Amino acid sequence: VIATSPEDQDRIETLVRALGGAFGGGLDTVEIVRAPGRVNLMGDHTDYNDGFVLPGAIDLDTWIVYRPRPDGLVRLRSRQSPVACEVRIDQLSLDPARPAQGWADYVAGVAWSLREDGLPIRGLDGIVDSKIPPGAGLSSSAALELAAALALLDGPAGLEAPSLALLAQRAERDYVGVDCGVMDQFAAAAGLAGQAILLDCRSLESRYVTLPDGLRVVVADTGSARELRVSAYNERRAECGRAVALLAERVPSVASLRDLDEATLRRHRRLLPASIARRADHVVSENARVLATVTALEAGDLDELGRIFAASHESLRSAYEVSSPALDAMVDIAVAVPGVVGARMTGAGFGGCIVCLVRIEAVPALAATIEREYPRRTGLQPRVYSVALADGAGRVGRPRR
Ligand code: ADP
Ligand code: MG
Repeated sequence: VIATSPEDQDRIETLVRALGGAFGGGLDTVEIVRAPGRVNLMGDHTDYNDGFVLPGAIDLDTWIVYRPRPDGLVRLRSRQSPVACEVRIDQLSLDPARPAQGWADYVAGVAWSLREDGLPIRGLDGIVDSKIPPGAGLSSSAALELAAALALLDGPAGLEAPSLALLAQRAERDYVGVDCGVMDQFAAAAGLAGQAILLDCRSLESRYVTLPDGLRVVVADTGSARELRVSAYNERRAECGRAVALLAERVPSVASLRDLDEATLRRHRRLLPASIARRADHVVSENARVLATVTALEAGDLDELGRIFAASHESLRSAYEVSSPALDAMVDIAVAVPGVVGARMTGAGFGGCIVCLVRIEAVPALAATIEREYPRRTGLQPRVYSVALADGAGRVGRPRR
């Protein structure tokens, strides 16, 4: 295998050694796949409303170093978990009574999903290794799914990013049981170095958007509790559905909040209870902000980017009501650092991460300021990640897919 960097070469050697240690066997048939995490620059709570998002794959990734097996047995060890994964691909089913198997469910779900599409899969022995912190909002789950899909596929399937993303999303939604949109999997599949991806979550049409030179993306984890996250997420989804149902009585062309513009919403706002109207305000304005962000990125208009990021955070805080004191504090701290272009919460909310666009030379000051000020204000420990936008899932040491 040809490594692209000395660091990759070290990682390959370590993982190949771990593979031999766990399963024995020779090295001649070892294969390696990788899939990245992702960050979303703009567009939160728009994906399940058929709207726009602007994610990018990042240079923190998950690898699987493996040897194919002739039978249908999948045996994986993860360097991030003491629990082994063992799956028989001829015994997969959606039986609701089947016990949850932790991270093995992501792998089994992908195998199940590949089979649903009639794609050829095979067994393997492998080692999983990830640089993506799990549960930090950088989508380690989609990375695991995409890497597993590439490893399980028997032969070059030539699958395009949208197909790969959809089958991985189906694995997480229907098999693992997490009601997720398609953004994470799409970004992990379609990423391109230095580019964000403008994705239409309804049509899955996408295009790349170049990040201006000299800008870096910084993600900072608030490290705050997220008990409310799942219940509030489900509540917001239901509220959006309610808004659509109420509006569709008068405006039949509205099949989702994606179909509303600001003027139409203003005209029919009185059909909605006040809190539901605020949810719609957020989704409609956030979709517009995704498109405005693309324009500003392509024009290199950093002041405008700052205004859009501030408006997005304010909308998530006051209209969608999914921010938290910890997220607000971290955004406050970040935007006060010279060289920070914009900062806002991202993800489901109630804890989780903020995302910042930062001039490259200001990254160390931003990290130091968050690490100093945030614990002082909240009593919580932050984790700060400076990331580059990177390529999507593929094989290591070979042409992509
Ligand atoms: P996120 O996708 O934001 O990181 P999720 O809760 O969606 O958080 O997914 C995290 C889960 O994905 C973990 O709890 C684990 O089950 C699985 N996972 C991701 N990466 C790995 C890994 N390297 N080894 C084992 N499990 C992993
Ligand atoms: Mg996830």
